Amino acid sequence: MGKFTDSVHLGFEGDKQFNSVNPPIYQTSTFFKNDFDDINKHDYSRVSNPTREVLENAIAKLEKGEYGLAFSSGVAAVQSLMGLLKSGDKILASQDLYGGTLRLFNNFFRNYGIDIIYHDFISLSDIPDSLLKEVKIIYFETPTNPLLKIYDISKIAAFAKRHNLISVIDNTFATPFNQNPLELGIDLVIHSSSKFLSGHSDIIGGLTVTNNLEINDKLKYVQKVVGGIPSPFDCWLIFRSMKTFAVRMERHNSNALHIAEKLKSVNNIKHIFYPILNKDKELAEKQMNGFGAVITIELNENVDYKKFIKNLKLIKLAESLGGVESLINHSYSMSHGSIPHEEKIRSGINERVFRISVGLEDVDDIYEDILTAISLSSS
Ligand SMILES: *Cc1c(COP(=O)(O)O)cnc(C)c1O
Repeated sequence: MGKFTDSVHLGFEGDKQFNSVNPPIYQTSTFFKNDFDDINKHDYSRVSNPTREVLENAIAKLEKGEYGLAFSSGVAAVQSLMGLLKSGDKILASQDLYGGTLRLFNNFFRNYGIDIIYHDFISLSDIPDSLLKEVKIIYFETPTNPLLKIYDISKIAAFAKRHNLISVIDNTFATPFNQNPLELGIDLVIHSSSKFLSGHSDIIGGLTVTNNLEINDKLKYVQKVVGGIPSPFDCWLIFRSMKTFAVRMERHNSNALHIAEKLKSVNNIKHIFYPILNKDKELAEKQMNGFGAVITIELNENVDYKKFIKNLKLIKLAESLGGVESLINHSYSMSHGSIPHEEKIRSGINERVFRISVGLEDVDDIYEDILTAISLSSS
């Protein structure tokens, strides 16, 4: 089936009891047994819940994988990787990860004896074998946040196979509409469903998908043991949102592409970062079906960047992305606020860099808002 059909139906064939078109919300902590030796499919909702199972099957469908799991947040899904590791193991990670993931790795995993080796994933061939000792997981994001650099997923998957590592990608920015890493050989895909999958800036959630039963069993064990699971209602809401996921993404893609192209000729923008406009354009075309909703711009020195934010009328300043409404993020002070100044400057994130999550409004309204705010803030 095609992407839009998959998004609308999500592998759900109706509820057996009353033929309801939508899944019921099983808002229950437990399930009774008629006798001691009754074996129920579900016993206790931390371990499993029918509404959560509907969502877990749905993300597996969208990612073209076998097994899905739902967590209470994106970072809870990343934290579940601990279930694949023990003290002394290491993670090889790309440098420019989501800030919350960096915080989790550096300030939490390391306290449990799991070290992280950071590397520029543009090239993996210069990593000596000696550095890979004890490395169990290779972890990355593409496109990256906020500069939308592209890493070669197939190459990273092949590298992982060669060195017997579990390859893990955070596919939140691209979404399963634009990129399906399992088909390119990646072992495990992680999502923050707080972004495009829920799509309405109203839920916090995380998801994992894999074709590897052993990996899935270990992460499922983390759900049960650690308990970072979403409520049945949140599972139902994300599932409901996923039905419009494909149509939303098609519009996100076309709005963002249109705006990125038009912004190229706007004075006072020093640089536009968008996968298809970057120098790694060919790689983006090879592994992505669309280029997503996120555009990052760097304003010229003669634009007062604080005034620019004040002069935006439609686009609101906020941390997150992936909702129906257009949002803008000041990378320097917000998403990357906890990173030291020198490090930010070195990686190209100065005070004039803004990440825009292009929403579903009329494309001309979004574009005009940016254009007007720039011209009112320039000297
Ligand atoms: C938001 C986000 C996360 C974290 O997800 P939460 O749901 O906020 O915990 C992880 N990775 C990426 C790329 C994100 O954008």
